[in-house]
Amino acid sequence: MIYDLLVVGGGINGCAIARDAAGRGLSVTLVEKDDLAAGTSSASTKLIHGGLRYLENYEFRLVREALGEREIMLASAPHVISPLTFILPYAQGLRPAWMLRIGLFLYDHLAKRKKLAGSHGVALAGTRYGAPLKDEFTRGFSYADCRADDSRLVTLNALDAHERGAQIFVGATLTEAKRADGLWRAMIDTPGGAREIKARALINAAGPWVSEVVENRLHAITHKHVRLVKGSHLVLRRLYDGDHAYILQNPDKRIVFLIPYEQDFTLIGTTDEVFFGAPGKVDIDAEETDYLLAAANRFLKTPATRSDIVWSYSGLRPLYDDGALNASVVTRDYAFDLDAHAGAAPVLSIFGGKLTTARVLAEHALAELAPLLPPHGGAWTANATLPGGDFANGDFDAFLATLQSRAPFLAPKTARRLARAYGSRVFRILGEAKSMEDLGADYGGGLTEAEIDYLRRVEWVRRADDLLWRRSRLGLHLTAEQRDAVARRLERPLD
Ligand code: FAD
Repeated sequence: MIYDLLVVGGGINGCAIARDAAGRGLSVTLVEKDDLAAGTSSASTKLIHGGLRYLENYEFRLVREALGEREIMLASAPHVISPLTFILPYAQGLRPAWMLRIGLFLYDHLAKRKKLAGSHGVALAGTRYGAPLKDEFTRGFSYADCRADDSRLVTLNALDAHERGAQIFVGATLTEAKRADGLWRAMIDTPGGAREIKARALINAAGPWVSEVVENRLHAITHKHVRLVKGSHLVLRRLYDGDHAYILQNPDKRIVFLIPYEQDFTLIGTTDEVFFGAPGKVDIDAEETDYLLAAANRFLKTPATRSDIVWSYSGLRPLYDDGALNASVVTRDYAFDLDAHAGAAPVLSIFGGKLTTARVLAEHALAELAPLLPPHGGAWTANATLPGGDFANGDFDAFLATLQSRAPFLAPKTARRLARAYGSRVFRILGEAKSMEDLGADYGGGLTEAEIDYLRRVEWVRRADDLLWRRSRLGLHLTAEQRDAVARRLERPLD
């Protein structure tokens, strides 16, 4: 078989492109060398946002596009994406209030808003927003963005692509691809052995590995380069009550977020460190930990300490190298490199991009390749839902109430977690179950045999660590014994 498109990389960009292309009627194969979202796409701050800070770097095109995407993404996946209120405390000696007001005015007006609230000034002294903060912070601003489960967003894109006909291979590495007779002939290393895939066009969505794929796998040339910038996050025991986030200014002009996380925790992030090594797994270092704690403690009444830290994660931003000297001002916008010459199969390499803009990036990528592909349909994703996101009016609370009435045996926390992760697809996991026992062994945190089996059968989960720390963050809630039991379950073949 000859595919129209071979997509390399199962991060948000690769999966969004595979979904869009499959929905247009193209035949698509996607290869991911590790697990879905194993690269940068599971290590983000998990915001679907315009990027208030990017206004200072005059990234108006990106901010406008990203602001517009917030509402489109929220409507398409109201289970894994939800609105979030941000509080920006005014801090003497940092940005003046008039500057913050102008930034927020632009943020409110650069793109259309339907669901998300606009910005306004808020009193902090004596209010719930000010309660966790030092008394010197008496006023600030409030605005809305969205938070997302980044890994689930990737998986849902892959699932939608698959349900529209795409082949998805995880644990499948593109080792080499050559052009021959107007096609790509790609060698793929899979758990079942090497195989060849033929495709009319190739999309290189390998994120931090984009240049490595061009140079070492395709033996091609690109004049564009990737700039790797490491970013780390800390997860701490919940630092404050309430479901709002804080955006905290730092004296180095950067900002750090405090975000409610996984019901019981607070996320602090992120850092910006130029990274010169080869792409791969990265970890937080002591300096980044100190930096993040100090950024939070400049504002918090009760200081966060190392003993509050329960987990951390780090990722590499695969930024398009625009030559900027400072890591935090390198453009967050994306760029394409199309290598297509007469008679030769084309390759489109993707540099940069955000979780927020992956859907629209996919549209632009396919528009660029369209003349080189067989006839196919037009853009369609702006008005479509992702799997599980099709509940009435995108009303999550109403959907949760329906789930609780149909499955009253689920503990409230479990019902909420399942509704968030799977949306309407949760009923495929629950089946005819009338009690927790009907869902099989209980591994803790509401994780049952039925859910594990669904993840393996439908969502390409293979390993316990992937399930516990990426596809879900249940690792945070389970004991070491419970995690071992999950690992043993995954070692057993599916019935
Ligand atoms: P990746 O997710 O890295 O995917 C590339 C994939 O390609 C990897 O899974 C890799 O295994 C695979 N691959 C590589 N080589 C091969 C090969 N030879 N064969 C097969 N597969 C291969 N964006 C937002 O919108 N909001 C945020 O809040 C946000 N916060 C961020 C915070 C941090 C600290 C970082 C680092 C990024 C953040 N981003 C955010 C940006 C966003 O996460 C990234 O832009 C996005 O995830 C990049 O996705 P990708 O698909 O390009 O790359």
